[in-house]
Amino acid sequence: MVFFHTYSDLSCGFGEAGRGSVIIILMSLTVAVDIGGTHIRVAVYEAESTKPIAHHRTRSQANKPGVYDRLVKAIESVWQKGKVTAIGMASPGPLDPYTGTILDTPNIPEWNNFPLGPNLSKHFGVPVYLDNDANMAGLAEWRYGAGQGHHDVIYLTISTGIGGGVISSDRLLQGFHGMGAELGHMLIDPNGPICGCGHFGHAESFSSGTAIARHVNEQLNAGCKSTLQAGPDLSAAQIADAAHAGDALAIAAFERAGHYLGIAVANYLTIFDPSILIFGGGVSQAENLLFKPFEESLRKHIFHPHYLDNLVITRAGLGDNAGLLGALALARMKSS
Ligand SMILES: [Zn+2]
Repeated sequence: MVFFHTYSDLSCGFGEAGRGSVIIILMSLTVAVDIGGTHIRVAVYEAESTKPIAHHRTRSQANKPGVYDRLVKAIESVWQKGKVTAIGMASPGPLDPYTGTILDTPNIPEWNNFPLGPNLSKHFGVPVYLDNDANMAGLAEWRYGAGQGHHDVIYLTISTGIGGGVISSDRLLQGFHGMGAELGHMLIDPNGPICGCGHFGHAESFSSGTAIARHVNEQLNAGCKSTLQAGPDLSAAQIADAAHAGDALAIAAFERAGHYLGIAVANYLTIFDPSILIFGGGVSQAENLLFKPFEESLRKHIFHPHYLDNLVITRAGLGDNAGLLGALALARMKSS
């Protein structure tokens, strides 16, 4: 196991998609869209480049009506008529990437069984390809980021929730229903805490930022001594700061999260046997607070130590651009 091998080359390389007639490659543009809870981001890319020639960002106002109209306007603001050949999108899920339908995403209440892909394809007259944001970030890290050159990749983003993306034998794992690789919702303990999805004991309910803050709040309300104050605004970042300052409860909270994360990842390795494990998301910036207990737990719970031989564990290299670049990679893969 190669722990936190530093990924130093953050410059975006060139994708492999877009093979075909040279004339078509030079003229074709791809539009990539990242629909987040706070912002919609749109960018236009030439040929095989990962540097946008135009981009636009607008507030998504996900809880208010008109998200689709705001999205269309954002795309229109960068549209180059006759030159764009495909649109790729990273969207909150759950969704069906094969039909382009958003099923019932909690972030955007008005998109319930919403045919986002078909609607946009009809409006703009080009194919639209979409998948969930974590899958797209994983795809981007494999194509253009920390996972380049690997054939079997697990990407995990740990923030308020836990999302995952899996590349298996150089293919994005989507599954029969397009709902594969929901790594945050792997069941760890059916008697565990409630998860963001409403079920109990999923990996996200133990090791996400929300889970860490909830656990600390519970301990504070039970009378545990700490420099932290209980409250709804208590964040994993505040708890990490307290842990770095030596607060025992804060340290124990990250140890608990790392312990369960190790169990979850032991399960993932048993199924997917990757050569690299890439961590994104704000909570993963807690570094050794989380990853030391994680590593100990992973070694303890893994079925066979050979899974850990030459396994690279590293941090994501693309930051906030991962969603856009994943959407770009998806559109290029699907339309090539
Ligand atoms: Zn869940």
